Amino acid sequence: MKKSNDRYRLSNGTMIPCIGYGTYKTPCDEVGLKAIKDAIEVGYRHIDTAAAYQNEYLVGQAIKESGLPRSDFFITSKLANPNQGYQSTLDAFEHTCTDLQSDYVDLYLIHWPIPIGHKDDWKTLNQETWRAFEKLYNEGRIKAIGVSNFLIHHMENLLETAVIAPMVDQLEFHPKYQQREIVEYCRNKNILVESWGPLMRGAAFDDPTLIALSAKLGHSIAQISIRWCLQKGVLPLPKSVHRDRMTSNKEVFDFVLSDEDVSILDAMNTTTNYVFHPDKNDEWFK
Ligand code: NDP
Repeated sequence: MKKSNDRYRLSNGTMIPCIGYGTYKTPCDEVGLKAIKDAIEVGYRHIDTAAAYQNEYLVGQAIKESGLPRSDFFITSKLANPNQGYQSTLDAFEHTCTDLQSDYVDLYLIHWPIPIGHKDDWKTLNQETWRAFEKLYNEGRIKAIGVSNFLIHHMENLLETAVIAPMVDQLEFHPKYQQREIVEYCRNKNILVESWGPLMRGAAFDDPTLIALSAKLGHSIAQISIRWCLQKGVLPLPKSVHRDRMTSNKEVFDFVLSDEDVSILDAMNTTTNYVFHPDKNDEWFK
């Protein structure tokens, strides 16, 4: 990869820009709209949103007002947890398309494997949801289908009945939470891993190892974290509402982390997730 819109190839041949612009907590107001427009102006063409963020409509508006053709963009959205199930997925997808002002989505993900209230029936629920994803994919309404926050046992369950395997798994992934088992599993199955929280949701900026590495290399902590994701073959989705930050976050192609620096970052790994764990997330899904 030599620039932010160079692309990874997904297992079905779909090409996806190697850095995406995250929009979780991008406010649903003028500030949020301006941030997404700024992201487009500074060059992002891959935007990651979700029905749960309630800002899909801002992404649609920003794209429309950019004057650029829809085909210039790669838009990911995610099915909200309460809408899992066959018919409810089909209905929710139409809402997403309406909000995005688009009749298709480039990449659509199941946001979380176990919605609240589904501890006992999540397996069949995921399989039914996936059947709807496959229908929309076969109809050309979605260019690539995938999952998010799926660990190996969630993935194995889905694959029991899937006709089409997921092309992406979007996971919490950063130097302090590398999720090596599921990442390796995805690599072996040609499923691209995307990193949510590549900047540890802001905690990266207080980390002593990253502070020292940044001083040594003369690149920002964000740039080092994002570069590390790319060197791991993972697709980072950094979020910022500040134009200067979103600009510098994609300026990661004029340096390479040495094997030694990668080892330092690799050694930061812990087994502690930052916020939500897919199997212990009930409260968040109220
Ligand atoms: P990030 O790791 O991207 O961190 C975002 C935080 O870092 C914000 O507080 C931002 O502040 C700050 N920041 C960004 N760039 C810089 C910089 N250069 N210098 C200093 N501070 C900076 O966290 P996210 O949780 O947003 O994850 C990224 C994206 O991943 C989300 O936006 C979303 O699209 C996706 N996601 C998916 C999830 C899933 O379940 N699939 C879960 C969570 C996120 P500011 O905006 O003020 O600049």
